[in-house]
Parts: sequence; structure tokens; C-alpha cells
Amino acid sequence: MGNVSKRIFGIDLGTTYSSISYVDEYGKAVIIPNAENERTTPSVVFFDEGSIVVGDVAKESAKLYPNDVVSFVKRSMGEPNFIFVHNAEEYRAEEISAYILKKLAQDAEQFLGEKVTDVVITCPAYFGINEREATRKAGEIAGFNVRQIINEPTAAAIAYGSLDTTDDRVVLVYDLGGGTFDVTMIDIKKDSVEVICTGGDHHLGGKDWDDRIVAYLVEMFQTETGTDEDILDDPDTWQDLQLSAEKAKKILSQRPNAPISVTHGGERVKIAMDRTKFEEITADLIERTIEFTRQMLEDAKGKGYQSFHEFILVGGASRMPQVRERIESEFKVVPKIFDPDESVAKGAAIYGWKLTLNDDLIQRLSVKSKKTISHVDDISEMIARKELSADDVKEAAREVADETGYTLPSVESAMMKVKNVTSKSFGVVAHNTRDEQIVFNIVLRNTAVPISRQKKFYTAIPNQKSVLIRIMESETSMIEVPEDHAVEIKTAILTLPPNLPADLPIDITFNLNEEGRLHVTAVETSQTRQVEVILDTSSVISGDDFDRAKARSQSLVIH
Ligand code: AMP
Repeated sequence: MGNVSKRIFGIDLGTTYSSISYVDEYGKAVIIPNAENERTTPSVVFFDEGSIVVGDVAKESAKLYPNDVVSFVKRSMGEPNFIFVHNAEEYRAEEISAYILKKLAQDAEQFLGEKVTDVVITCPAYFGINEREATRKAGEIAGFNVRQIINEPTAAAIAYGSLDTTDDRVVLVYDLGGGTFDVTMIDIKKDSVEVICTGGDHHLGGKDWDDRIVAYLVEMFQTETGTDEDILDDPDTWQDLQLSAEKAKKILSQRPNAPISVTHGGERVKIAMDRTKFEEITADLIERTIEFTRQMLEDAKGKGYQSFHEFILVGGASRMPQVRERIESEFKVVPKIFDPDESVAKGAAIYGWKLTLNDDLIQRLSVKSKKTISHVDDISEMIARKELSADDVKEAAREVADETGYTLPSVESAMMKVKNVTSKSFGVVAHNTRDEQIVFNIVLRNTAVPISRQKKFYTAIPNQKSVLIRIMESETSMIEVPEDHAVEIKTAILTLPPNLPADLPIDITFNLNEEGRLHVTAVETSQTRQVEVILDTSSVISGDDFDRAKARSQSLVIH
């Protein structure tokens, strides 16, 4: 048994299914089954009398108690307007997600006989500041020490890269999950995993394919029975059709036909569904993923990556045969399906394991060398600058290996660098030379993080009392974008002393860390008056709401 100081678990908090993984004593990532002995748990929460039920039972209960069940909550992560009301109590997406996390952790604790305290949670590469912060908050409400939020495709690539580290290769990760789509180019080397470019759609996933089947079933039911009633107004029918549609979709991945029977208002109609029909009613959805992939490949070209070696498919919905076929015809490659349901959680666990081993290594090396080492990524540069000796690093790694029981190569592989890019552009609202109000981007999407960028702006009028700094997030790659192409994520005010002239320079600095957290400072340079904005984000659960959610989540029972 690896005697590591603190185990860090990897959690894939999915739109439709979630899972938890850890790295075992052989250095291999394994999925921990839930109490129902399933390797993935439906991300569905059922507010039963006085208790909370998560998973399969909740999913099944949706039929009988549609008003007491919440699904697809990940799609509302960080959205201030999403509130689920139950028994006059209000629940934000962060808290509902916390219940899913608690269920995974409780079952893992039962299985392993060990407490789950520290976790790495994944989110789509596509998530912006608010959604990332909301994911972190969900973990904190569940009572975890959230060590890091990492991107799902990066996690999948880590799991993929951990299989065989002999060849350097550029891999395209096409991740079609239950509710989100990400496509990411990743450069995997022996000692690093580097994200080159990423793109995708927050609102495109397997659920959309289900919805198309549902819409078709409604239409066919109306034709067969001669009614023009919208049968989806009946919550029981709606739930029933959702479940049948998902089942049929999965069957169609195996077989050419999946007839579905629809029962409503005492009438029962059997509706034929075959692969050809299914592909016809969903063709535009695949095309959207292809379009995002093409765009991402264009962005990658701009960064000097003209081609890739492998195309890997992750996410449950990438099992649909038409995904594979369409990719083959478009990109002339044979995509490989790689552990679609489990690779993300496993990659997160491997990343967590790396953090633990690295903590141990840094601690030992700091003592040995009497130097401050703040990050494992600094070690190679410190060796190059002769601030550290390679022998000391080797010896520290050997000690960690001896202490933990892991092999020396696996401890050394834990020093692998993971480099990410930001999936969004960030800027401020300002007036351009034509006096139009626009968003001026300071950090552009697909820039490697961490990054620090500074830009000078100027006050508009003499004796200006203050400067309003509106921090904006967008998905464009242009420096100047119209205001309605971006969303405001935070504002700050820099107060100015009286009698300053117009055109006073204001330095605005954006620091984006490796997790995608933004820290903004604005400095009036003549007097060095400063305002600091730490983007713990406006629309995410905070303050009293957070405390209440945390207390409530601790007092409730999760099944
Ligand atoms: P994930 O978020 O990666 O767990 O993906 C879940 C999505 O994959 C859901 O929409 C599932 O319905 C879908 N899915 C899982 N298995 C299959 C399958 N065999 N064929 C088609 N879709 C599937």
C-alpha cells in the first residue's frame, strides 16, 4: 500500500453521469464503484421526504416525482438565475452538485474504508470563470479540500498519456459528454502534457440527441393518434419519453433498430426508430461538433500545429457510430475510442496523485538543498541554473519512492508538467479611437496559462472622479469586440483624487492562474493609487448563501 501523505481523489462531475477514482498501490488509476456497484453514478438528485437521494434511484424516481428531481444541473453551473425550489427552500446549482459529490465520496469511503477529504474535480475546458468557481464552490459545500479544478480533456489526455510515455505525439481529444462538447489539441511529451488549443459548446451533448428523439416521438404520436395535444405538458409523459429516448439512443449504438413505445392518456403507440432515421434527425448536431473541431484546428495552425497524430474520442455520447463515421470522412483519420466513461475521472486521480507525490518531493528537496521551491515545474530550470543538483533531485525522488512503495520511474513521471490554455478571452470595456464603447481584450483565448498581461488605458475627462472597470469574458479571438459579444463578470471602481488632467494613464493588469482564476489590478500611475479585483466572481454562490448551503448539506442525509 502506498504510504502517501494524503490521498487526493479525482472526480468527474458530469452532466449526466459522475464518477470517482483514485490511484492504487501499483500507481494505476482505478474507478471506485458506488453503493449500487456501478462505476458511474447518474448526476440526478431526488429530494425525497427529509433526505436526498442521488444516482440510479433518483433517475428512476423522476418518472413518479418529476417535481422533486433535478437533472442536468451542470448546465446551470454559475448561473445566478438558476434556483430549484423544493418545500419553499431554494437550492443553487452549486449546492445540488455538492450532493452529487457527497454521494460519490460517501460510497467511496464505504468501499475503501478511508475518508475522502482532498479532491481534484474536472470541468469542461469550455467553462468560464464563473462556472469554474461554481465547481470549486460545489466541492467546498460538500466539505472537501478542493486541490484543483482541471479541464476534462486535459484529464483524459493525462490518463491517455499515462498509458505509454515513450512517443511524443499531438492528440486531438473530442469529448462529447451528456451535456457539453469540448475539442482540444494536446501535445503529449515524455515529461509534459500541454494543451495547445481548445474549443467547444457548453450546451451541446448527448442530451440534445435524446431531445431530438423525444421531439420525433411526440410528432409521431400526434400523427398516429390524430391529436394535436403537446403530450410533453404532462410531466409523467415527459419523464417517460426522456428515459425511453436515452435508452433507444444507446441501443442504436449497438443495433440498427430500437422501436419505442409511447403511452399517454390511455393510448399506446409503438414507434419505429432505426439508425438512419436517428442520424437524419440529429445530423445538424454532429455538424456543429465538426464545425467546432475545424475552428479549433485553424486556431492550432496559428500556433504552429499543422497536424496531429491521433484523434481520440471520450465522453459517453462519442459511442454513437455516426460520430466515428463523420470524423473519418471529414478528417481522414480513424478515431480511437478511449475509455469514454472513465478516462476523465482517472486522469483527475492521476493528477491528484502527482500533486501528492510532488508535495513530498518538494518538501524533501527543500530540506536537502535549503532552497525555496514553490512549484515542481521550477525544478528543471533550477537544475539548469545550478541552483539545484540533479543528484539531489534523484535522491529525493528515490526517498519518496521508498517511502510510498511506488517505483522510482512512476515518482519521476509525477514531475510531468501540465500546461493549459484559457478557453475564454478577458478584457475591459473602454472607448476606442473612434469613441465607440467596445470590449478591449487583454488576454486572448487559447493563450497558455499562467499569464500576466498589462495594458495602459487613459481617463476620459479632466477632474474625473473615478474609473469604472468592467471586466468582460468572451469567446472571440479578436482584441476589440462589441460589448454584446461578451459577458460582464465583475466590476470594480478606482477612485481618483480631484483635479487630475484628462488622459491620465491607468495600468490594468490581468493575472490568470493555471486553474483559470483571474486577478486584476488597476493602478493610476502618477500617484500609484491601486484597486485590486480578485475574481471570486459575481454570480457564484457566496456569503450567507454559501454558509447556509454548506450547513444544510452537512445536516442532510444522502443516499
Ligand atoms: P458522459 O457525460 O461522458 O458520462 O456522457 C454521458 C452521455 O453519453 C449521455 O448522454 C449518455 O446517454 C451517452 N451515452 C452513454 N453510452 C452511450 C452509448 N452506448 N451510445 C450513445 N450514447 C451513450
